[in-house]
Amino acid sequence: MAMPTIKQVRAFTVRGGGADYHDQADGHWIDDHISTPMARYPEYRQSRRSFGIDVLGTLVVEVEASDGTVGFAVTTGGEIGAFIVEKHLARFLEGQRVTDIEKMWDQMYYATLYYGRKGVVLNTISGVDLALWDLLGKLRQEPVYQLLGGPVRDELVFYATGARPDLAKEMGFIGGKLPLQHGPAEGEEGLRKNIETLATMRERVGDDFWLMYDCWMSLDVRYATRLAQAAQEHKLKWLEECLPPDDYWGYAELRKNVPRGMLVTTGEHEATRWGFRMLLEMGCCDIIQPDVNWCGGMTELIKISALADAHNVMVVPHGSSVYSYHFVVTRHNSPFAEFLMMAPKADEVVPMFTPLLLDEPVPERGRLKVPETPGFGVRLNPDCKLTRPYSH
Ligand SMILES: [Mg+2]
Repeated sequence: MAMPTIKQVRAFTVRGGGADYHDQADGHWIDDHISTPMARYPEYRQSRRSFGIDVLGTLVVEVEASDGTVGFAVTTGGEIGAFIVEKHLARFLEGQRVTDIEKMWDQMYYATLYYGRKGVVLNTISGVDLALWDLLGKLRQEPVYQLLGGPVRDELVFYATGARPDLAKEMGFIGGKLPLQHGPAEGEEGLRKNIETLATMRERVGDDFWLMYDCWMSLDVRYATRLAQAAQEHKLKWLEECLPPDDYWGYAELRKNVPRGMLVTTGEHEATRWGFRMLLEMGCCDIIQPDVNWCGGMTELIKISALADAHNVMVVPHGSSVYSYHFVVTRHNSPFAEFLMMAPKADEVVPMFTPLLLDEPVPERGRLKVPETPGFGVRLNPDCKLTRPYSH
Protein backbone atom coordinates (compact mmCIF):
# COMPACT_ATOMS: atom_id res chain seq x y z
CA MET A 1 0.00 0.00 0.00
CA ALA A 2 1.35 3.42 -0.89
CA MET A 3 1.73 5.57 2.19
CA PRO A 4 -0.78 8.46 2.12
CA THR A 5 0.43 12.03 2.04
CA ILE A 6 -0.71 14.86 4.28
CA LYS A 7 -3.64 16.71 2.81
CA GLN A 8 -4.33 19.38 5.41
CA VAL A 9 -3.18 20.69 8.78
CA ARG A 10 -5.67 22.53 11.00
CA ALA A 11 -5.21 24.29 14.34
CA PHE A 12 -7.94 24.99 16.88
CA THR A 13 -8.26 26.69 20.21
CA VAL A 14 -10.52 25.64 23.02
CA ARG A 15 -10.92 27.26 26.38
CA GLY A 16 -10.14 24.83 29.14
CA GLY A 17 -10.03 21.17 28.32
CA GLY A 18 -7.11 20.39 30.55
CA ALA A 19 -4.25 20.49 28.04
CA ASP A 20 -2.56 23.20 30.05
CA TYR A 21 -3.77 21.83 33.42
CA HIS A 22 -4.57 25.40 34.29
CA ASP A 23 -8.28 25.78 33.78
CA GLN A 24 -9.10 25.24 37.42
CA ALA A 25 -11.90 26.78 39.41
CA ASP A 26 -11.49 28.42 42.80
CA GLY A 27 -10.60 26.07 45.62
CA HIS A 28 -8.70 23.54 43.47
CA TRP A 29 -5.52 22.32 45.18
CA ILE A 30 -3.55 23.12 42.00
CA ASP A 31 -4.14 26.84 42.42
CA ASP A 32 -4.17 27.16 46.20
CA HIS A 33 -1.19 29.26 47.22
CA ILE A 34 1.42 27.26 45.32
CA SER A 35 4.92 28.66 45.47
CA THR A 36 5.86 30.22 42.12
CA PRO A 37 8.51 32.63 40.82
CA MET A 38 5.82 35.36 40.96
CA ALA A 39 5.19 34.74 44.68
CA ARG A 40 7.82 37.37 45.43
CA TYR A 41 4.98 39.80 44.69
CA PRO A 42 2.33 39.42 47.40
CA GLU A 43 -0.48 40.35 44.99
CA TYR A 44 0.36 37.32 42.81
CA ARG A 45 0.96 34.85 45.63
CA GLN A 46 -2.39 33.20 46.20
CA SER A 47 -3.29 32.12 42.67
CA ARG A 48 -1.33 31.22 39.55
CA ARG A 49 -4.23 32.48 37.47
CA SER A 50 -3.64 35.94 38.94
CA PHE A 51 -0.42 36.24 36.93
CA GLY A 52 -1.89 34.63 33.82
CA ILE A 53 -1.04 30.94 33.90
CA ASP A 54 -4.20 30.20 31.95
CA VAL A 55 -3.71 32.94 29.38
CA LEU A 56 -2.50 30.80 26.46
CA GLY A 57 -5.16 28.11 26.61
CA THR A 58 -5.32 24.83 24.75
CA LEU A 59 -4.17 24.16 21.18
CA VAL A 60 -5.59 21.26 19.18
CA VAL A 61 -3.73 20.23 16.02
CA GLU A 62 -5.37 18.02 13.42
CA VAL A 63 -3.50 16.43 10.52
CA GLU A 64 -5.57 14.89 7.77
CA ALA A 65 -4.10 12.35 5.33
CA SER A 66 -4.97 11.95 1.66
CA ASP A 67 -7.11 8.90 2.49
CA GLY A 68 -9.18 10.92 4.98
CA THR A 69 -7.59 9.54 8.17
CA VAL A 70 -7.15 12.23 10.82
CA GLY A 71 -4.53 12.31 13.56
CA PHE A 72 -4.64 14.91 16.32
CA ALA A 73 -2.96 16.06 19.51
CA VAL A 74 -3.45 18.68 22.18
CA THR A 75 -0.99 20.96 23.89
CA THR A 76 -0.68 24.42 25.45
CA GLY A 77 -0.40 27.20 22.88
CA GLY A 78 -3.84 28.61 22.21
CA GLU A 79 -4.27 31.28 19.58
CA ILE A 80 -0.55 32.01 19.22
CA GLY A 81 0.13 28.34 18.62
CA ALA A 82 -2.74 28.16 16.11
CA PHE A 83 -1.22 31.08 14.20
CA ILE A 84 2.21 29.40 14.06
CA VAL A 85 0.71 26.11 12.84
CA GLU A 86 -1.50 27.62 10.15
CA LYS A 87 0.71 30.45 8.93
CA HIS A 88 4.12 28.85 9.24
CA LEU A 89 4.37 25.13 10.01
CA ALA A 90 1.63 23.76 7.73
CA ARG A 91 3.79 24.32 4.64
CA PHE A 92 6.34 21.78 5.90
CA LEU A 93 3.69 19.07 6.28
CA GLU A 94 1.17 19.35 3.50
CA GLY A 95 2.09 17.16 0.53
CA GLN A 96 4.65 15.16 2.56
CA ARG A 97 4.41 11.41 3.12
CA VAL A 98 2.92 10.65 6.53
CA THR A 99 6.01 8.57 7.43
CA ASP A 100 8.47 11.43 6.91
CA ILE A 101 8.21 12.64 10.51
CA GLU A 102 11.93 13.18 11.04
CA LYS A 103 12.20 15.51 8.06
CA MET A 104 9.05 17.40 9.02
CA TRP A 105 10.32 17.93 12.58
CA ASP A 106 13.67 19.12 11.31
CA GLN A 107 12.07 21.64 8.95
CA MET A 108 9.67 22.95 11.60
CA TYR A 109 12.50 23.42 14.08
CA TYR A 110 15.03 25.05 11.78
CA ALA A 111 12.46 27.28 10.06
CA THR A 112 11.38 28.73 13.43
CA LEU A 113 14.87 28.98 14.91
CA TYR A 114 14.99 32.76 14.55
CA TYR A 115 12.05 33.17 16.93
CA GLY A 116 11.62 29.73 18.48
CA ARG A 117 13.99 27.33 20.29
CA LYS A 118 11.87 26.98 23.47
CA GLY A 119 8.56 27.97 25.00
CA VAL A 120 5.39 28.38 22.99
CA VAL A 121 7.02 27.59 19.63
CA LEU A 122 8.28 24.25 20.90
CA ASN A 123 4.92 23.57 22.56
CA THR A 124 3.38 24.10 19.14
CA ILE A 125 5.90 21.92 17.28
CA SER A 126 5.27 19.26 19.94
CA GLY A 127 1.53 19.39 19.24
CA VAL A 128 2.09 18.98 15.50
CA ASP A 129 4.60 16.18 16.03
CA LEU A 130 2.26 14.24 18.34
CA ALA A 131 -0.57 14.63 15.83
CA LEU A 132 1.74 13.08 13.21
CA TRP A 133 2.49 10.08 15.46
CA ASP A 134 -1.23 9.70 16.16
CA LEU A 135 -1.94 9.75 12.42
CA LEU A 136 0.79 7.22 11.63
CA GLY A 137 -0.53 4.89 14.33
CA LYS A 138 -4.05 5.13 12.95
CA LEU A 139 -2.86 4.42 9.40
CA ARG A 140 -0.85 1.42 10.55
CA GLN A 141 -3.57 0.35 12.99
CA GLU A 142 -1.06 0.22 15.82
CA PRO A 143 -0.68 2.01 19.15
CA VAL A 144 2.12 4.58 19.19
CA TYR A 145 4.12 2.45 21.66
CA GLN A 146 4.44 -0.22 18.98
CA LEU A 147 5.79 2.36 16.52
CA LEU A 148 8.38 3.26 19.18
CA GLY A 149 9.76 -0.26 19.35
CA GLY A 150 7.21 -1.96 21.55
CA PRO A 151 6.68 -2.22 25.30
CA VAL A 152 9.40 -3.38 27.69
CA ARG A 153 6.91 -4.11 30.49
CA ASP A 154 3.29 -5.15 30.83
CA GLU A 155 2.01 -2.14 32.71
CA LEU A 156 2.94 1.25 34.07
CA VAL A 157 3.22 2.09 37.74
CA PHE A 158 2.45 5.61 38.92
CA TYR A 159 3.13 8.14 41.60
CA ALA A 160 0.48 10.80 42.11
CA THR A 161 0.94 14.55 42.11
CA GLY A 162 -1.48 16.40 44.36
CA ALA A 163 -2.17 17.83 47.76
CA ARG A 164 -3.10 14.47 49.37
CA PRO A 165 -0.35 11.85 49.18
CA ASP A 166 -2.07 10.06 52.06
CA LEU A 167 -5.12 9.43 49.86
CA ALA A 168 -2.86 8.57 46.90
CA LYS A 169 -1.33 5.83 49.01
CA GLU A 170 -4.76 4.37 49.74
CA MET A 171 -5.48 4.48 46.01
CA GLY A 172 -2.47 2.29 45.27
CA PHE A 173 0.09 4.80 43.99
CA ILE A 174 3.79 4.26 44.76
CA GLY A 175 4.35 7.83 45.93
CA GLY A 176 2.90 11.28 46.30
CA LYS A 177 4.30 14.61 45.17
CA LEU A 178 3.15 17.70 47.00
CA PRO A 179 3.14 21.22 45.63
CA LEU A 180 5.41 23.42 47.74
CA GLN A 181 3.24 26.23 49.08
CA HIS A 182 5.65 28.79 50.49
CA GLY A 183 8.65 30.36 48.77
CA PRO A 184 11.63 32.42 49.92
CA ALA A 185 9.58 35.62 50.13
CA GLU A 186 7.59 34.09 52.99
CA GLY A 187 10.73 33.73 55.08
CA GLU A 188 11.33 31.49 58.08
CA GLU A 189 7.63 31.16 58.81
CA GLY A 190 7.02 29.83 55.28
CA LEU A 191 9.92 27.40 55.50
CA ARG A 192 8.58 26.09 58.82
CA LYS A 193 5.12 25.57 57.26
CA ASN A 194 6.64 23.72 54.31
CA ILE A 195 8.41 21.32 56.65
CA GLU A 196 5.32 20.92 58.83
CA THR A 197 3.22 19.88 55.83
CA LEU A 198 5.83 17.30 54.88
CA ALA A 199 6.11 16.02 58.44
CA THR A 200 2.33 15.66 58.73
CA MET A 201 2.16 13.70 55.49
CA ARG A 202 5.08 11.50 56.47
CA GLU A 203 3.30 10.65 59.68
CA ARG A 204 0.17 9.70 57.75
CA VAL A 205 1.82 7.59 55.04
CA GLY A 206 4.52 5.84 57.06
CA ASP A 207 8.19 5.43 56.17
CA ASP A 208 8.06 3.44 52.96
CA PHE A 209 5.86 5.61 50.76
CA TRP A 210 7.65 8.09 48.50
CA LEU A 211 7.09 11.77 49.24
CA MET A 212 8.36 14.51 46.95
CA TYR A 213 8.13 18.30 46.74
CA ASP A 214 7.45 20.17 43.49
CA CYS A 215 8.81 23.71 43.73
CA TRP A 216 7.73 25.01 40.29
CA MET A 217 10.84 27.14 39.60
CA SER A 218 10.21 29.24 42.70
CA LEU A 219 13.30 28.95 44.91
CA ASP A 220 16.94 30.01 44.96
CA VAL A 221 19.92 27.78 45.71
CA ARG A 222 20.26 28.91 49.29
CA TYR A 223 16.58 28.35 50.15
CA ALA A 224 16.39 25.06 48.26
CA THR A 225 19.47 23.81 50.13
CA ARG A 226 17.93 24.67 53.50
CA LEU A 227 14.65 23.05 52.49
CA ALA A 228 16.49 19.89 51.41
CA GLN A 229 18.43 19.69 54.66
CA ALA A 230 15.33 20.19 56.79
CA ALA A 231 13.34 17.70 54.69
CA GLN A 232 15.93 14.96 55.11
CA GLU A 233 14.55 14.02 58.53
CA HIS A 234 11.18 13.36 56.90
CA LYS A 235 12.70 11.22 54.14
CA LEU A 236 11.90 13.42 51.18
CA LYS A 237 12.65 11.38 48.03
CA TRP A 238 13.16 14.25 45.61
CA LEU A 239 13.06 17.99 45.26
CA GLU A 240 11.61 19.03 41.90
CA GLU A 241 12.21 22.06 39.70
CA CYS A 242 13.54 24.26 42.49
CA LEU A 243 15.08 26.92 40.26
CA PRO A 244 14.26 28.83 37.07
CA PRO A 245 15.00 26.58 34.06
CA ASP A 246 17.81 28.81 32.79
CA ASP A 247 19.83 28.47 36.01
CA TYR A 248 21.81 25.35 35.03
CA TRP A 249 24.65 26.50 37.29
CA GLY A 250 22.31 26.75 40.27
CA TYR A 251 21.01 23.21 39.67
CA ALA A 252 24.56 21.86 39.48
CA GLU A 253 25.34 23.52 42.81
CA LEU A 254 22.11 22.39 44.45
CA ARG A 255 22.69 18.79 43.45
CA LYS A 256 26.00 18.90 45.34
CA ASN A 257 24.32 20.50 48.35
CA VAL A 258 21.39 18.15 48.95
CA PRO A 259 21.74 15.38 51.55
CA ARG A 260 23.05 12.05 50.31
CA GLY A 261 20.28 9.95 48.77
CA MET A 262 17.89 12.83 48.09
CA LEU A 263 17.29 13.32 44.36
CA VAL A 264 17.17 16.56 42.40
CA THR A 265 14.77 16.54 39.45
CA THR A 266 13.89 19.07 36.78
CA GLY A 267 13.23 19.63 33.07
CA GLU A 268 9.46 20.11 32.90
CA HIS A 269 10.00 23.51 31.23
CA GLU A 270 13.09 22.52 29.24
CA ALA A 271 13.00 21.78 25.54
CA THR A 272 14.97 19.96 22.82
CA ARG A 273 18.04 17.71 22.92
CA TRP A 274 20.24 20.81 23.35
CA GLY A 275 18.40 22.08 26.43
CA PHE A 276 18.55 18.65 28.05
CA ARG A 277 22.19 18.29 27.05
CA MET A 278 22.90 21.27 29.31
CA LEU A 279 21.10 19.63 32.23
CA LEU A 280 22.84 16.30 31.66
CA GLU A 281 26.39 17.45 30.99
CA MET A 282 26.35 19.96 33.84
CA GLY A 283 25.17 17.29 36.28
CA CYS A 284 22.05 19.26 37.18
CA CYS A 285 19.75 16.43 38.24
CA ASP A 286 19.13 12.74 38.88
CA ILE A 287 15.86 12.53 36.92
CA ILE A 288 14.82 14.61 33.92
CA GLN A 289 11.11 15.33 33.52
CA PRO A 290 10.49 16.42 29.92
CA ASP A 291 6.89 17.17 29.02
CA VAL A 292 6.28 15.48 25.68
CA ASN A 293 3.68 18.14 24.86
CA TRP A 294 6.28 20.87 25.31
CA CYS A 295 9.84 19.53 24.81
CA GLY A 296 9.51 18.98 21.04
CA GLY A 297 7.10 16.06 20.90
CA MET A 298 7.75 12.32 20.62
CA THR A 299 10.37 12.71 17.89
CA GLU A 300 12.50 14.84 20.18
CA LEU A 301 11.76 12.90 23.38
CA ILE A 302 13.33 9.80 21.78
CA LYS A 303 16.59 11.72 21.37
CA ILE A 304 16.45 13.36 24.80
CA SER A 305 15.81 9.98 26.39
CA ALA A 306 18.74 8.27 24.64
CA LEU A 307 21.04 11.07 25.76
CA ALA A 308 19.79 10.76 29.35
CA ASP A 309 20.24 6.99 29.30
CA ALA A 310 23.88 7.42 28.30
CA HIS A 311 24.30 9.76 31.29
CA ASN A 312 22.65 7.30 33.71
CA VAL A 313 19.84 9.74 34.34
CA MET A 314 16.22 8.53 34.49
CA VAL A 315 13.49 10.01 32.29
CA VAL A 316 10.14 10.43 34.04
CA PRO A 317 8.02 12.66 31.82
CA HIS A 318 5.87 15.41 33.29
CA GLY A 319 2.14 14.65 33.31
CA SER A 320 0.69 14.65 29.80
CA SER A 321 -1.31 11.44 30.08
CA VAL A 322 -1.41 9.16 27.01
CA TYR A 323 1.27 11.20 25.25
CA SER A 324 3.79 10.13 27.86
CA TYR A 325 2.33 6.68 28.67
CA HIS A 326 3.05 5.42 25.16
CA PHE A 327 6.68 6.43 25.60
CA VAL A 328 7.28 5.35 29.19
CA VAL A 329 6.11 1.79 28.53
CA THR A 330 8.82 1.40 25.84
CA ARG A 331 11.85 2.44 27.92
CA HIS A 332 13.65 0.73 30.81
CA ASN A 333 15.10 4.11 31.67
CA SER A 334 11.59 5.36 32.51
CA PRO A 335 10.64 2.93 35.28
CA PHE A 336 7.50 4.74 36.49
CA ALA A 337 5.15 7.55 35.45
CA GLU A 338 3.43 10.62 36.87
CA PHE A 339 -0.30 10.92 37.37
CA LEU A 340 -1.66 14.38 38.03
CA MET A 341 -4.62 14.35 40.39
CA MET A 342 -7.09 16.64 38.64
CA ALA A 343 -9.88 16.22 41.20
CA PRO A 344 -10.17 19.51 43.11
CA LYS A 345 -9.50 17.83 46.46
CA ALA A 346 -7.06 15.26 45.00
CA ASP A 347 -9.32 12.60 46.45
CA GLU A 348 -10.21 10.59 43.34
CA VAL A 349 -8.66 9.52 40.05
CA VAL A 350 -10.12 11.43 37.10
CA PRO A 351 -8.76 11.64 33.52
CA MET A 352 -6.24 14.46 33.14
CA PHE A 353 -7.67 15.89 29.91
CA THR A 354 -11.34 15.86 30.86
CA PRO A 355 -13.52 17.08 29.22
CA LEU A 356 -11.56 17.50 25.97
CA LEU A 357 -10.51 13.89 25.43
CA LEU A 358 -12.60 10.72 25.40
CA ASP A 359 -11.32 7.17 26.06
CA GLU A 360 -8.42 8.48 28.14
CA PRO A 361 -7.19 5.59 30.31
CA VAL A 362 -6.52 6.14 34.02
CA PRO A 363 -4.56 4.04 36.50
CA GLU A 364 -6.34 1.55 38.71
CA ARG A 365 -4.65 0.82 42.01
CA GLY A 366 -1.77 2.96 40.67
CA ARG A 367 -1.25 0.75 37.62
CA LEU A 368 -2.19 0.89 33.97
CA LYS A 369 -1.94 -1.38 30.96
CA VAL A 370 -1.63 1.00 28.00
CA PRO A 371 -4.53 0.23 25.62
CA GLU A 372 -3.82 -1.25 22.18
CA THR A 373 -6.07 1.26 20.40
CA PRO A 374 -4.33 2.72 17.29
CA GLY A 375 -2.45 6.00 17.63
CA PHE A 376 -2.64 7.50 21.12
CA GLY A 377 -6.03 5.85 21.54
CA VAL A 378 -8.02 8.96 22.44
CA ARG A 379 -10.78 10.95 20.73
CA LEU A 380 -11.79 14.59 20.80
CA ASN A 381 -15.01 15.14 22.70
CA PRO A 382 -17.55 16.47 20.15
CA ASP A 383 -19.22 18.44 22.96
CA CYS A 384 -16.15 20.67 23.32
CA LYS A 385 -16.40 23.66 21.08
CA LEU A 386 -13.30 24.16 18.93
CA THR A 387 -12.52 27.46 17.23
CA ARG A 388 -10.24 27.78 14.19
CA PRO A 389 -8.93 31.36 14.57
CA TYR A 390 -6.68 31.25 11.48
CA SER A 391 -6.62 29.25 8.28
CA HIS A 392 -4.26 29.08 5.35
MG1 LIG B 1 6.56 19.72 38.30
